[in-house]
Amino acid sequence: MSDCIFCKIIDGQIPSKKVYENEDIIAFEDIHPAAPVHVLVVPKKHIDSLESLNPDNVEIVGKIHMAIREVAKNKGINTDGYRVIVNCGKNGGQTVPHLHYHVLGGAVFNEKII
Ligand code: AMP
Ligand code: ZN
Repeated sequence: MSDCIFCKIIDGQIPSKKVYENEDIIAFEDIHPAAPVHVLVVPKKHIDSLESLNPDNVEIVGKIHMAIREVAKNKGINTDGYRVIVNCGKNGGQTVPHLHYHVLGGAVFNEKII
C-alpha cells in the first residue's frame, strides 16, 4: 500500500535497522524500543491486521513465527525467553495498519494482563 509506513520500509523508501529478512518477511528494530530488545516482525505482503487473515493468506503466520525464532536467536534472547505481542485494531492499540509482531526481550516481563 502506497501510504503504509511499513510498506515504505519494505520498499527501502524509509530507512530501518534490519535484523532479519527472508523471501516473505522482514524484521527491524522498533524506532521507540519498549525493552532492551524490541524488534518488529512484518510480512512483506501488506495485510492490514490479524483481522485481515483468511484461508488464502494465513500460511504467513507460521512463517512469521519461525522468523520470530530466528530473530530471537540472532538477538541472543531465545534461551532466556521473550514476549510476543500483536496489537489488533483500535481497542488493541494498533497504530500502524500493517500486520506486525512485537518481539520484546532482554528483560523480565512481570506484568500479567492475563
Ligand atoms: P503498534 O502500536 O502495535 O501498531 O506498533 C507500531 C510500532 O511501530 C510502534 O512500536 C512504533 O514505535 C513502531 N514504528 C513506527 N514507525 C516506525 C519506523 N519508521 N521504524 C520502526 N518502528 C516504527
Ligand atoms: Zn503495508
